[in-house]
Amino acid sequence: MDPKVMQKLSYGLFVLTAKDGDKDNGCIINTAIQVTSEPNRITIAVNKGNFTHDMVKKTGVFNVSILSEAAKFDTFKHFGFQSGRDVDKAVGITYKRSANDVIYLDSAEVNAYISAKVIQSIDLGTHTLFIADVTDGEVLNPEASATYAYYFAHIKPAPAAKQESKKGWICTICGYIYEGEELPADFICPVCKHPASDFKKL
Ligand code: FE
Repeated sequence: MDPKVMQKLSYGLFVLTAKDGDKDNGCIINTAIQVTSEPNRITIAVNKGNFTHDMVKKTGVFNVSILSEAAKFDTFKHFGFQSGRDVDKAVGITYKRSANDVIYLDSAEVNAYISAKVIQSIDLGTHTLFIADVTDGEVLNPEASATYAYYFAHIKPAPAAKQESKKGWICTICGYIYEGEELPADFICPVCKHPASDFKKL
């Protein structure tokens, strides 16, 4: 099978946020999908390596901020390329709290948010699939929603020339460079948690 076939699937891009005690956190996901309308229900699949995953699993409550085409690469770096275990991701962003007390991004980069409550979770190995009832939500502005393809074409910067001169493998998602001849097949990007199939040889 041509592995590129999977890249033809269309995805949105979202900031998943949760709150555990006084701790707010968020991460980037591309897996929010409405699965039924009566009742209004969504699923999200979240990598277990994300701190936000553990918070959603524990509290069962989350928000999905829908990133628009106005989203900046810095926002992807802020939520995608560092861990809430190390930094407070609520610092340096513009946010509000919805009725469920969870933060959502309140800026031109997000066109809407959805609040949801987990009703079931399914262990998928690397990820957990959360099935959740939509409890609230609001449209914030008329910007078009960003797709994964739009992110690659217009938001993610091209790799810098100095990276091209290095030897090894580059993560096509975040730009992390693995220095070595052979990339292990089970390698996971330490920065953005994407698998070896998202790397290309320099
Ligand atoms: Fe990466």
